[in-house]
Amino acid sequence: MTGLPPLPAPASLGDSVLAALAGLPDPTGTDVTERFEDALGRAFGRRYAVAVSSGTTALHAALSAVGVGPGDEVLLPALTVIMSAQPVVQLGAIPVFVDSDPETLDLDYADAAAKVTFRTRAIVPVHLWGRMGDPARLRAFAAEHGLLVVEDAAQAAGTTRAGIPAGAVGAAGCFSTKDGKILWSGEGGFVLCDDPDVAAHLRAVRGHWLTPPPGGRPQERLGLAGRMPVLSAALAHANLARLPALLERRRAQTARLLDALAPARGLVPLRPGPEESWNHYAPLLRIDLPHPRAFAEHLAATGVPSSTGSFRLVPCDTRPMFTTGRAPCPGTARILDRTLAIVLTERDDEHVLERYAATITREAAAWRP
Ligand SMILES: *Cc1c(COP(=O)(O)O)cnc(C)c1O
Repeated sequence: MTGLPPLPAPASLGDSVLAALAGLPDPTGTDVTERFEDALGRAFGRRYAVAVSSGTTALHAALSAVGVGPGDEVLLPALTVIMSAQPVVQLGAIPVFVDSDPETLDLDYADAAAKVTFRTRAIVPVHLWGRMGDPARLRAFAAEHGLLVVEDAAQAAGTTRAGIPAGAVGAAGCFSTKDGKILWSGEGGFVLCDDPDVAAHLRAVRGHWLTPPPGGRPQERLGLAGRMPVLSAALAHANLARLPALLERRRAQTARLLDALAPARGLVPLRPGPEESWNHYAPLLRIDLPHPRAFAEHLAATGVPSSTGSFRLVPCDTRPMFTTGRAPCPGTARILDRTLAIVLTERDDEHVLERYAATITREAAAWRP
């Protein structure tokens, strides 16, 4: 394996945190965060960015800001983590899980249409593994049924499709900066939007409604303890400056690993969709071996981390707190049982990737469950 692009400017992280630290304690905490938000708006091409404490908070604040409330139904893919659905429940709304197409990983729009009712208010597409569905199709579906679009783009910073960045398809785009995402800051998140009223609601709700929208009074309603900590904002800002180089490195890591796995038995790389410029969040392979989920779990035990093997990702509609008596989503189960989504970090160098490739190749050849 030839060299990867080097880790970009690691010293900038320390410098940024030290500079922010010099201004602490600052009960208003606004300067560092505001500069980060300005930079986010420019980087992602949306008018407003509001930094929050996590990706889950980003979704909660965004759904609240677009008006989702008690009794509303919200469509979202079963192909996701529980954090996509939790804010829906916390707002008193009802998550309605939609299947995904095993060929494209995009939403199964026939299933989505069948699940629309007069209560359906919003749809939350989730760009899992950084893969983004067709934005034109999503917008057309939302327009046809009068739904708001709030994207869970937690894993998709840097992905675009048909020229539209993840997080810029609908009313609000939600991101996480938890460690493990490409743009990380320990903990944190942010919401992107273009509507000033949505932005004002986001700023109010993230901090106990202390800074109300124009015309409102402070703390006339409840909000969240959802601000982004100053040091996380400083880290996230430094990482935003590194983002193009981090994306280039992730692309190279994924390409190297998939190249090295080309001869491996029973493993077929998944390719991005038409006009999709994928951030390469996780190298994705279809496992054409018997008992594929057990194979992913076996790999995790042998030192190759993955979504299903390490984190036991299952269709969200099968989690005990979300089971509704509806039929489970078969396409989603098929995708999750058969997809090896390898977990990478920016620090994974040639040696780590070589070890992953060697382990996967050896274990696939020997796999006789
Ligand atoms: C990480 C993640 C979240 C939640 O983000 P947190 O910052 O951990 O709250 C939500 N959705 C997806 C798809 C994620 O990957």
